[in-house]
Amino acid sequence: MPGSDVTTKTHCPYCALQCGMEITAGKVTETGRELTISPRTDIPANASGALCQKGWTAGELLTNGERLTTPLLHGEPVEWDVALDYVAYRLSAIRAEHGPDAVAVFGGGGLTNEKAYTLGKFARVALGTSQIDYNGRFCMSSAAAASTRAFGMDRGMPFPITDLDDADVVMLAGGNVAETMPPFVRHLSGPRVIVIDPRRTQTAKLAWLHLQPTPGTDLALALGMLHLAIADELVDEEYVAARTTGFDEVRTSLASWWPERVERITGVPVHQMRQAVRAMAAVDKAYILTGRGAEQHAKGTDTVTAFINLALALGLPGTHGSGYGCVTGQGNGQGGREHGQKADQLPGYRKIDDPAAREHMARIWGIPAEEIPGPGRSAYELLDALGTPGGPRAMLLFGSNPVISAPAAEHVAERIGALDLLVACDFVMSETAALADVVFPVTQWAEETGTMTNLEGRVLLRRRAVTPPEGVRSDLDVIAGLAERLGHHFETEPAEVFDELRRASQGGLADYSGITYDRIANETGVFWPCPDEGPSSRHPGTPRPFLDSFATPDGRARFVPVQHRPPAEEVDEDYPVYLSTGRVLAHYQSGAQTRRIAPLVQAAPEPFVELHPDLAEQLDIAAGDIVRVSSRRGEAKAVARISDAIRRDTVFMPFHWEGANRLTNPALDPTSRMPEFKVCAVRVERDS
Ligand code: SF4
Repeated sequence: MPGSDVTTKTHCPYCALQCGMEITAGKVTETGRELTISPRTDIPANASGALCQKGWTAGELLTNGERLTTPLLHGEPVEWDVALDYVAYRLSAIRAEHGPDAVAVFGGGGLTNEKAYTLGKFARVALGTSQIDYNGRFCMSSAAAASTRAFGMDRGMPFPITDLDDADVVMLAGGNVAETMPPFVRHLSGPRVIVIDPRRTQTAKLAWLHLQPTPGTDLALALGMLHLAIADELVDEEYVAARTTGFDEVRTSLASWWPERVERITGVPVHQMRQAVRAMAAVDKAYILTGRGAEQHAKGTDTVTAFINLALALGLPGTHGSGYGCVTGQGNGQGGREHGQKADQLPGYRKIDDPAAREHMARIWGIPAEEIPGPGRSAYELLDALGTPGGPRAMLLFGSNPVISAPAAEHVAERIGALDLLVACDFVMSETAALADVVFPVTQWAEETGTMTNLEGRVLLRRRAVTPPEGVRSDLDVIAGLAERLGHHFETEPAEVFDELRRASQGGLADYSGITYDRIANETGVFWPCPDEGPSSRHPGTPRPFLDSFATPDGRARFVPVQHRPPAEEVDEDYPVYLSTGRVLAHYQSGAQTRRIAPLVQAAPEPFVELHPDLAEQLDIAAGDIVRVSSRRGEAKAVARISDAIRRDTVFMPFHWEGANRLTNPALDPTSRMPEFKVCAVRVERDS
């Protein structure tokens, strides 16, 4: 560990805002070295000096008593070599008996770019398996698919977050940034904010206008608003003619989405839809942003497409001061989907079935292109196939806790239980790690160096600030240790891995080849794409990639006609209430980290079910009662909270604890393969 009072500039371990923070390692006390966290003011996302409660308390992750420090083999502590030898032996045996696709790899959107890249390479080169995907599939894959379809490229927010400060109007569909990433709200203090959410969330309470649709009807709402924009002659015809294709087809497809019909479907009054559209059309600078509320549906890609169509009709994307963006959630949700841990992608955001991409990666990896496996199963399909005939028999898990975070979680736990071998890399004993045959204790954020790409597409450098505890190794060491035993050499130094990643990404959509650790440090982050222009020139990075043209073959953005349809599961007599899931301020993702931090547990100690006073009265439920919530997939119990912030027909549960995802529906979006986390049908009863 560095000496006393050493201060290191780094970033928060949690969400995609990747707030800049400084960690000061102070004197050693009886309980360990004192760590102080303070916000950096040189990182635009939180330049105001803000951190949320999770960020302020992140230092406790480093000193937490529940930290894993010894490899475990069937629950017993063993030496590293014993555990690595055992896993390599079992992987080889399973591959020999069942073929390479019998081994699966499941990654995470919180892993650094270096780890995400190495994991993808390890799966394809050392294991030869196509069966790799990651929990980011559950995060922003619908927005990624819709952006790729419309713009030819997916970069969550294709503009710096500070552009929002100068906006006149921002529409946020299905995002609760006031709770998930509070410093974001400071960028919304200037514009009028329109929030679309079935709940009156903390963000909705700050909004100028709140549209509160029935869960699962955002797509109809976006269609209705575009219908109104056309009917009220608010379309930016000049922009549409110059910068887009396909508008006539979309215009025709909207004929049946007249506002009164949309009001009947969504519950949003026509006058509110018109107010929102007129507000957006009347100003110079307007943005439409989507979050998980709009995206985590079996029609998430089409829902985001409908919002992008609206943005295009109003002439927003690819202009200075306006645009469309996705508010990515996980810490490296953006970078995690660019460098190869996704089932259908190779590094640099290349498609795995593109022959030129395969040739390029084959040269980098020194193997014949035909040896690179093709696309594998998406995250839920992969979990669903575990231990089935023809499905994976072994799984390596990095930075993910699917027993809590996957839909139909009880079923997923059963599938995991059917594996011959589960190996987990984690720094605490998550609920999924507890099921593993082998657990490798690994380093965490401030104990290692690596790059993260935040929600703006800005590549940032997380620096090592403290020495890891005795006994732990980085994920890169674990992968290299296994690769060596399988006959391959893998780098373990993050800087060297990043150099290889830069070469691998060169020429791809997400081109990092001109980005170096030094540049990131000196420039407080670099936006991709940033090609390497050689020693005599330096590409500045690309904060706003669509200003001149979109990344489509003709440079124009594509309108895509889409149609609304009901949720995969509608309410009925047996399950008469909608369930929607989401986050609370104090916790992050599956809670494996934040549920171990005392102040966060104090702030939000237990799962709850939020229900409207009218529904509570109808069901004879009072605040504080234990409530049983059942769906066709399972059952969960939680404490009742009564609030008129929720619709009468809907209940809300946070997903940071075991329970909520036992209920959710794994119906998948046909394009993004995103499960329908945000709406399913449930029955709610007071627990007797
Ligand atoms: S907003 Fe996100 S990145 Fe910032 S401190 Fe909170 S959890 Fe960390």
